[in-house]
Amino acid sequence: MPFDILRARADTVGCTHVLHFNNAGAALVPRVVMNAMIAHLELEERIGSYEAAVQSHDALEHLYDAAATLLSCHRDEVSFVESSSRAWNMAFLSMSLRCGDRILTSMAEYASNYITLMQAARKTGAIVEVIDNDEYGQISLRALRNAIDERVKLIAITHVPTNGGLVNPVIEVGQVAREVGALYLVDACQSVGQMPVDVQAMNCDILSTAGRKYLRGPRGTGLLYVRRSILEQLEPPLLDVQAAPWVATDRFVLRPDARRFESWETSYAGKIGLGVAIDYALAWGIEATWARVSALADDLRAQLRYFPGITMRDLGVTRCGIVTFTVDGKDPREICRLLARQRINVWNSEISLTRLDMEARGMTDLIRASVHYYNTHEEIEQFCSALATVLGITRFGGVAMRLDTVSSGSSAARERLE
Ligand SMILES: *Cc1c(COP(=O)(O)O)cnc(C)c1O
Repeated sequence: MPFDILRARADTVGCTHVLHFNNAGAALVPRVVMNAMIAHLELEERIGSYEAAVQSHDALEHLYDAAATLLSCHRDEVSFVESSSRAWNMAFLSMSLRCGDRILTSMAEYASNYITLMQAARKTGAIVEVIDNDEYGQISLRALRNAIDERVKLIAITHVPTNGGLVNPVIEVGQVAREVGALYLVDACQSVGQMPVDVQAMNCDILSTAGRKYLRGPRGTGLLYVRRSILEQLEPPLLDVQAAPWVATDRFVLRPDARRFESWETSYAGKIGLGVAIDYALAWGIEATWARVSALADDLRAQLRYFPGITMRDLGVTRCGIVTFTVDGKDPREICRLLARQRINVWNSEISLTRLDMEARGMTDLIRASVHYYNTHEEIEQFCSALATVLGITRFGGVAMRLDTVSSGSSAARERLE
């Protein structure tokens, strides 16, 4: 079935205001999500917030069913948290690590994860080892297998990094994790909502993601999946009345389900909004979304390839909706600023977010243009024109060339330049 792009855009107020290629930062929230959140906030205003929660009980609980469908897990394995980093940290810090335990991770790791790994290494004496990339820039399965021994307690990798189109081979890594009996934690912050993510197929024990990115949910929301069979092994570092009911004066019990990672107080409107966002994503179809996002990103990459001075920076065999590049001699932040003036949203991805990868590739900043299904080929064209203008480049039939490379003697060429 063809994608009903007009409806997708009509459902998205932001589409009439901006050209939004910052979906990897936060995607545009669809109107249905806003409506559900506003309705709940107004209910809180009208009848009181606790009372509103009682009345919205089903909508609040629905989040767990929606997330379970999305990730192919059980509702008891889902925890609602405020961010992807918090999800990742909560699960990771619940593991009991000992001196000499080995943790294997990837070059693509996100800062918050790696910072917490370094902290854990310092506190516990666990050893963090970064597995090299293969010749395509994805985590090397050969290097991973070579690194495996019985001291490996955890394999923690990032599915899609914040700074590029790379899609790490999470299913193959999961097979290795299963063979050696290590826990497997996947940061799926950029992949959930963009492409099929199935925790069973991945053999994944723990998965973290954000609501605001490809799921198009509200800010301040995130999901943590923890496999039922390992829940009992994981004691969260922070407990409250939600996570661990106080059942006798000298005793609390940890909740048996993944809500042991939650806090009692949270954004109820956000929780409802995220549930609606997941329903909405499922209604479009994740496979259809992935096909469209990939096609749009391929189109954008194909156009940018012709720009003189631009170097495409996406790694991997399969490339997703995150398109990254640098421009010779130009500051990415300045380019983002100039495009922002024309209401074109792209973002600068800086070294401090993915330092392992950026240092290895000798980069400090790159420009990230990340597309979603509601973007269009026309927007890609518009973006390329605006970028060409900003860079002082002209384009003939989609082919870019620098102004000063066009022969000054050719009046025909000059005319087409003007
Ligand atoms: C954005 C991002 C995160 C962090 O998500 P927060 O919700 O801001 O904590 C983690 N990992 C990856 C790959 C990301 O892109």
